[in-house]
Amino acid sequence: MEFFDIIEEIVDDDLLFILKYGLLISNFITIFILLYFKSKKQQNEKEEKKSVLLVTAHPDDEAMFFLPTITYLNDNNYEVHLICLSNGNANKIGKIREVELEKCCKYLKINKLTIINDKDLQDSMSVMWLIEKIQKIVEEYIDENNIKGVITFDKKGISGHLNHIACYKAISSMKRTEGLKVFVLETTNILRKYSSILDFFVSSILNDNLMVNLNILKAWRSMKIHHSQFVWYRKLFVVFSRYAYINTLIKI
Ligand SMILES: [Zn+2]
Repeated sequence: MEFFDIIEEIVDDDLLFILKYGLLISNFITIFILLYFKSKKQQNEKEEKKSVLLVTAHPDDEAMFFLPTITYLNDNNYEVHLICLSNGNANKIGKIREVELEKCCKYLKINKLTIINDKDLQDSMSVMWLIEKIQKIVEEYIDENNIKGVITFDKKGISGHLNHIACYKAISSMKRTEGLKVFVLETTNILRKYSSILDFFVSSILNDNLMVNLNILKAWRSMKIHHSQFVWYRKLFVVFSRYAYINTLIKI
């Protein structure tokens, strides 16, 4: 005997109607509620697009070191701002490098770029930048642009460059607005630094704030846009550096 035939013998017509169609109706209601909250969430995400500020020292730092972070921010609906604290004028080609950085920011979908060209913050491997000057620039920018998070180099500056370390010193000790989150890009040892995507396994165990870029073409193209800098060892860097594929951030 069929299931509904048995039920018909036990219950009256009204209850049978509810049994037959109740499940169907409740399914429609559930789907409707889920769609409503999903669309509500998407609206909220659109309304609350958070702005994150990346602070670097030279044009090409964003492409060489921060590409996985920028990719993550783009994919997760953040508005990405970049302050580059110098125009990289160490070899007197600052103006060329400014144009290269503007092109790269368009390619990487960075929403707003500010290039600083200040006499106290010139590209140099031997001069420590004025920390107070960096702090003033960044603090004012945060206020004016409703920035919710800042990302920069850590105390070792990935390559140990004094200008990268100055970014860390300034950002780690600046005045913070309420709720502002600050992250630094982790410097790894040299073995991990040049183990490319293979460092994923170690990174995923050691750090939860892991960002990954699996697109080698994106890494190559973003560095190639910095044409004046795209010499042979930087080409090798794109292939072998973990920073083209993996970023681990540390909250400070
Ligand atoms: Zn640099």
